[in-house]
Amino acid sequence: MSETEADDAVDPRDLTDEEWRERLSEEEYRVLRESGTEAKFSGEYVDHHPDDGEYRCRACGTVLFDAETKYESGCGWPAFYAAEEESVTTTVDTSHGMRRTEVRCANCDSHLGHVFDDGPEPTGKRFCINSVAMEYDGE
Ligand SMILES: [Zn+2]
Repeated sequence: MSETEADDAVDPRDLTDEEWRERLSEEEYRVLRESGTEAKFSGEYVDHHPDDGEYRCRACGTVLFDAETKYESGCGWPAFYAAEEESVTTTVDTSHGMRRTEVRCANCDSHLGHVFDDGPEPTGKRFCINSVAMEYDGE
């Protein structure tokens, strides 16, 4: 590992709010760190259907979703039927008068979106994820 890489090896869980604000754009901060939601059909990955590659956490770079699991749900946000193993955590979210399951990055605990039980086979899951919470890595 080079010295530069060592410098980058900060545990994202140790970052202060101020440090997050420096690292993220305003919209990224609002979604990732304040559990915000980007406007429906506004995200750059809604109509993005590459043959391969992966989507990483925009806050910490962890691989979250394989492009092969992305599908067109019509819901207005990027949708996946599966997350990479142990890359995300889920918790029940009762905000906004709804009972939903929130999805967070397991590495940095940033908010990504929600998961629903109306997805396609083989999992039956629909991970509804904000584009701004991810960064596509691939062709
Ligand atoms: Zn992360």
